Amino acid sequence: MGNYIVFDLEWNQGEAPVTRNGKTLAFEIVEIGAVKLNEKREKIGEFSRLIKPQIHRYMHRITGKLIHLSMDDLGNGEIFQVVAGEFLRWCGDDPMFCSWGPLDLTEFQKNLDFFGMPLLSDRPLAFYDVQKLYSLAYDDGRSRRALETAIEELGIEKDIPFHRALADAEYTAKVFSTFNEDILKRVSFDTYVTPKTKKQEIRIVFDNYEKFISREFSCKEDILENREIMSTKCYLCHRNIRKKIKWFTPNGKHYYSVAFCENHGFMKAKVRIKKAEDGNQYVIKTCRFISNEDLEEMIKKQQKAKKRQKP
Ligand SMILES: [Zn+2]
Repeated sequence: MGNYIVFDLEWNQGEAPVTRNGKTLAFEIVEIGAVKLNEKREKIGEFSRLIKPQIHRYMHRITGKLIHLSMDDLGNGEIFQVVAGEFLRWCGDDPMFCSWGPLDLTEFQKNLDFFGMPLLSDRPLAFYDVQKLYSLAYDDGRSRRALETAIEELGIEKDIPFHRALADAEYTAKVFSTFNEDILKRVSFDTYVTPKTKKQEIRIVFDNYEKFISREFSCKEDILENREIMSTKCYLCHRNIRKKIKWFTPNGKHYYSVAFCENHGFMKAKVRIKKAEDGNQYVIKTCRFISNEDLEEMIKKQQKAKKRQKP
């Protein structure tokens, strides 16, 4: 693996998304800030550039945060193609991207795609969602804090203003460097690029569950008839195990089943059908072992779903 690249983007959404050559862009990146960390997570460099807008000519309120830049500031920047190229060269080979929340890597790839540049990978890309890791390390694993709240909770000095890309990247890097090695096992995957072939599929076992990202299928029926996706295999002993609760769906998007392994107990499988960028469909499947109480809950959930299906 290369260095850790902790980065943050500022983007402008303008009045409406813009379509060119069949590609649509809603959020135009206007600033890239990043901190480079070595394998010990020590800071060894920084990157900060403004980007001259090519799509949106007016500044707009941005996803929850007000951008601290004006169009005049941005006019001094270079265009995205130039800055993104410099940024990627600065990242070096095989970087591991880290960001506060899951959005930045997707938006970065969307901008690369829109401006005709090569994408970062031909399959889902592993990265660290530092906001998620923060919750796993210090909270319940589900809640999501604002970066500033996390900084306050960790007692890190707030010596630079938030909401500029480099500042937010610096703070994110400071949070990232507090995690122990166990937390670093919880990688996330950016699915802007979904697997096209079986070889590109992702299968990863975490401490308490398994995650699988399938290749694309042209329709839902092909997914539901796919033996590999819909079979239940214990992810620890790799044997087919018998279902106790057959596949059911409460909403036509999420499918659940529970199977029993003699060695490991009740295993719940969840299949989520998701839409790929190109309009095809793919699956994120997770398997985890559950308690007897969770099993009771799944039985209730199944009965409710059955009732709903009746005319
Ligand atoms: Zn087993």
